[in-house]
Amino acid sequence: MSLKMKAKISEEQMMMSEFKNEPLANFTLEVERKKMMDALAKVKSEFGRTYGLHTADQVSSASNVITSRNPAFPDQIIGSTISATKEDADRALKIVTEGSKTWKKTPASERISLLEKLADWMVSHKYELSAWMVYEVGKSWKEADADTCEGIDFCRYYAREMNRLAEPRMTQMVLGENDTLAYFPKGVSVVIAPWNFPFAILAGMAVASLVTGNTVIIKPAEQSVVIGAKLAQGLKAVGFPQDAFFFLPGVGEEIGPMIVNDPRVDIIAFTGSADVGLSIIESAARKPKAGQRGVKKVIAEMGGKNALIIDEDADQDEAILGATHSAFGFQGQKCSALSRLLVHEKIYDAFVKRFVEAASGLKMGDPANPEFQMGPVIDEEAQKRILKTIQDAKTRMKVLFESKTPAGNGYFVPQTIFECTDAHEKWFQNEIFGPVILVKKFSTLEEGIELVNSVPYALTGGIYSRSPSHIEKAKAEMEVGNLYINRAITGATVQRHPFGGFKLSGIGSKAGGPDYLLQFLEARTVSENVVRRGFAGEKA
Ligand code: NAD
Repeated sequence: MSLKMKAKISEEQMMMSEFKNEPLANFTLEVERKKMMDALAKVKSEFGRTYGLHTADQVSSASNVITSRNPAFPDQIIGSTISATKEDADRALKIVTEGSKTWKKTPASERISLLEKLADWMVSHKYELSAWMVYEVGKSWKEADADTCEGIDFCRYYAREMNRLAEPRMTQMVLGENDTLAYFPKGVSVVIAPWNFPFAILAGMAVASLVTGNTVIIKPAEQSVVIGAKLAQGLKAVGFPQDAFFFLPGVGEEIGPMIVNDPRVDIIAFTGSADVGLSIIESAARKPKAGQRGVKKVIAEMGGKNALIIDEDADQDEAILGATHSAFGFQGQKCSALSRLLVHEKIYDAFVKRFVEAASGLKMGDPANPEFQMGPVIDEEAQKRILKTIQDAKTRMKVLFESKTPAGNGYFVPQTIFECTDAHEKWFQNEIFGPVILVKKFSTLEEGIELVNSVPYALTGGIYSRSPSHIEKAKAEMEVGNLYINRAITGATVQRHPFGGFKLSGIGSKAGGPDYLLQFLEARTVSENVVRRGFAGEKA
């Protein structure tokens, strides 16, 4: 390895080591609790506003709106956005297609600097952004704070990553020829996001599009339009050009296919269910239409059916904590959430008893009150679907635990733990996306790993074990995008845990990792003969 190469690597390493994740709030401190209480009060005083399309400015009235409600108290309206029509989507596409002509030529340094400013804006609005999430999607304080911090990390990390990718790099040193590889924006990006990380995922996909020089249409999930509006307001506040982005809330089934199929779109960055993701991949693969620049790039991060193995020699105190947190954090509505707990037969009875006790210790109620670790599920549709799943599962599996739900009309569902004896069971194989866990016994590690790998998804997974050889076997054989050993299986951190799965869980490169931005770029190689023959003078 040449000295030059060594120097480059250490420079890159130095740059990467400077990256610091945004620290999570410490709500055991009075001062931090006060900040959150103040933010909750401020945000509450702003309930009921309506936000417009494009830059999400407040509008005085509108007829066709998406109304966002507090899932803990559905009569409480958080706010509304205009619901985009197909005509609005067409206008949005016109604006960002035109805007792309200048944005793609804007120096990377300017785009990077705007991203850093956006991170600073997020930091200065941190508690408010988290408070919106507590009210709009029912996140506990800690979960909402983690979501905001991840959004900040995405901005800072992708800014650094773009810095790394911005300059052309030499591919090989040969006499007489300059060979370089350089990255160029693709054009117009469409971001379609889920409600469960309403800030971080929406922001992550949007800023990755922008910093790489693509203009972007930002479509939040219907359930979390107000948080989406806050992101759009942030983009405007820090000075992103108003033809570089367009906030387009709307009903997914109505405007989604239109924007996905439009020939002006070059990239679709989607995170959500496998059903919708697969339909997008399918439609993007069709033969290009007139006016389309090429094959559309689809980045699709989809569902999971995540398992945790508890080995016979596991540290059970640690494993109980990790399993409970992974299963019930944000009511199990994380793509990374634990939904299959696999326990070695030698410790099965004792461990499952403790797991049930730990689950029953969690309190469910209004997430604005920090006394409660668990809140409601996202909406009535999810509530009905999960309750129906529980009823169906009861016809085949033994219920080990079913919690009570708070009184009132909030969208609460009971934490439910089933004992599963059949790996072909429908709910052992399919995502439920709620606080419903299946526990299954296994007798050898081989069998445990086989159970992990038996599902169509491959997102997160984990093992608690104190056996080095078992840990090595798990590393080699567990088919998951993110494997966690002797720790909880949720809570991926930007740069430290690049996140994403394979099989039906996704076809993207990991978010928050070094390959992510490449998906938004076109690589071009230039090979220039530089043997001196003399150049013609520049034309005036
Ligand atoms: P969803 O698929 O219902 O919706 C996601 C987005 O797609 C929303 O904005 C929605 O409006 C839009 N949409 C709906 N129909 C569409 C269509 N026909 N064309 C285009 N867009 C359309 O998912 P959700 O309920 O919002 O989110 C939960 C799902 O997301 C779960 O399956 C979860 O596992 C997955 N998820 C995955 C990851 C990951 O990183 N792999 C992260 C978070 C969530």
